Amino acid sequence: MSKEQMLNFDEGAKKGRVTLVGAGPGAVDLLTIRGQRVLQQAEVVVYDDLANAELLEICPASAKRIYVGKRAGVHCMLQAQISEILVEEARLEKRVVRLKGGDPLVFARGGEEMETLAKAGIDFDIVPGVTSAIAAGASTGIPLTHRDHASSVVFVTGHECAGKSARPNQVNWAALAQTGATLCIYMGVRRLADISETLQDGGLAGTTPVAIVADATLEEQTVHVTTLAEAPIFSESLLSRPSLIIVGEVVRWAELHDTMISMQAAGV
Ligand code: SAH
Repeated sequence: MSKEQMLNFDEGAKKGRVTLVGAGPGAVDLLTIRGQRVLQQAEVVVYDDLANAELLEICPASAKRIYVGKRAGVHCMLQAQISEILVEEARLEKRVVRLKGGDPLVFARGGEEMETLAKAGIDFDIVPGVTSAIAAGASTGIPLTHRDHASSVVFVTGHECAGKSARPNQVNWAALAQTGATLCIYMGVRRLADISETLQDGGLAGTTPVAIVADATLEEQTVHVTTLAEAPIFSESLLSRPSLIIVGEVVRWAELHDTMISMQAAGV
């Protein structure tokens, strides 16, 4: 869609407004100040399975809360239906917040929602959030880039590994294996065995360090530091938890972080 099309709002239907807000990765205090302000003014909040439902308490008690996540029905609510709800509520001249985990434009289908809103002539804006890859790095002490070890970072979905999808923009894992980039894999736990194999076939050593960070920034956070070859062992036990997989030499820095924490605990 061209910029001209995006900005071609229907003046007559312009009173309501939708703000896509990034909820951050989990810890409530990782919401941005702008996100907090927008939530405080919300008249309608449309949300799905957030890492932290406490964020909803920031909205006024009077705000209408609409859950559109996986538990909403037997099937996941269709993206088109969610976008339609945003349009309908905004047409009622409401201040609508579409709250999404992490950042609203990173693996969050924000693009599709924006498109529907633009076509319907609804004003919208976006408040970024701390995406889970950044949070997973910070909360484990893994620098996603390092002057000597990683000059690029890739955010990639593990959802469509190993030739399962015929889409033209399908992930080229073999190419990623060659980049030397730190790989931050979202939604990858279920396909970890395939991913590990494909990356190794692409030339990445089985000894490449891997960290799997589950429930990053929440009290339940766990970190498994392993290797590319061994990583699939942890898949099964993490299926029900949001987990971010970090692949690359920089994962070795997690040990530094651990040492610091145990020194602090020991009062050194
Ligand atoms: N928009 C979100 C991503 C949504 S896709 C963002 O910017 O973070 C859902 C995936 O995000 C999960 O499968 C998991 O890989 C990752 N994720 C979300 N929250 C997480 C958390 N607290 N800890 C680890 N990974 C998380």
